Amino acid sequence: MPKAIFSEINLDKCALYGCLSELQISHIIPSFMIRWFKDSSATGHIRFGENPNVRVQDGPKARMLCQECEQLFSNWEKEFAEKCFEPICDGRAHEIQYTAWMLKATTSISWRVLFAFDAINELSEFPTAVREEVVAALDEWKRFLLNDQQCTDRFGQHMLLVDLLDCATIANVPHNINRYLTRTIDCDVAHNGESAFAYTKMGRFMLFSFVDMDDAHLWEGTKLNSKNGLLGEGDKSLPPELLSYIFNRAKSVANTYSQISEFQQEKILQSYGKNPSRVSASETLCAVNQDVLLFGKRSAFEATQPKSKPHLEQDIKKKRN
Ligand SMILES: [Zn+2]
Repeated sequence: MPKAIFSEINLDKCALYGCLSELQISHIIPSFMIRWFKDSSATGHIRFGENPNVRVQDGPKARMLCQECEQLFSNWEKEFAEKCFEPICDGRAHEIQYTAWMLKATTSISWRVLFAFDAINELSEFPTAVREEVVAALDEWKRFLLNDQQCTDRFGQHMLLVDLLDCATIANVPHNINRYLTRTIDCDVAHNGESAFAYTKMGRFMLFSFVDMDDAHLWEGTKLNSKNGLLGEGDKSLPPELLSYIFNRAKSVANTYSQISEFQQEKILQSYGKNPSRVSASETLCAVNQDVLLFGKRSAFEATQPKSKPHLEQDIKKKRN
């Protein structure tokens, strides 16, 4: 998540269609994902990267769209939620046969993320050539959303489904990787000097939205089709640099969590103590357990905790006794 705040975006007309009717407060990341995150968490609360010391009720939002455009997005989101996100998260399906709603829903998310990052000046230090491509990507995605104009591969949407890691034989794997892969909502825009992508992480779904990527040929089996397609566990090939990008995102989330104050830490532990059955059934604990299995208790807990603080597991034990 960026340091600046999306709620500071102040527009005088709808960002999608230029409509002059009253602007709504839009979710940057769809609200059903935030609900899923809260429902499947150990505490039922969320904290976002830019300020982990504040417990919030909702995800990042901005006054961006008129009611009509907001409704357009919510129709595609509903299909994505019911036909893809929920069946995968519930374990009812491991692959999803999709139709046209998939590219509409994912492009609408990518457009919101890239537009919002640009609007809060998070891209102001990107090279001029990349910024020009950002403008072109936003324009192409907008025309696809509004008029169904075909999207080119330059600005394609690529999706990866991830799960808990069975083993960690690669070097430099962050010790919170399973919590990051399965339990984190994150968004970012990254560039390599010549090209860029918008990145939206929604639990186990990683969406990479190309902004004229120069290594597009290295991405195989991830591109979402405009009409029909299959999202699943088939063969994939990705650029090797992507792994270090994901590891860096995981480390950055761990670093943010290690800044949680002692007071807030105590509040989290109180939530655990109040409802131990919720904790033990939560996906949060499942991800923590997998990190412990792969890296050992001390390393897994120290990854997200200030070094001077007592270990989380010891705290939980203390609470239970
Ligand atoms: Zn509008």
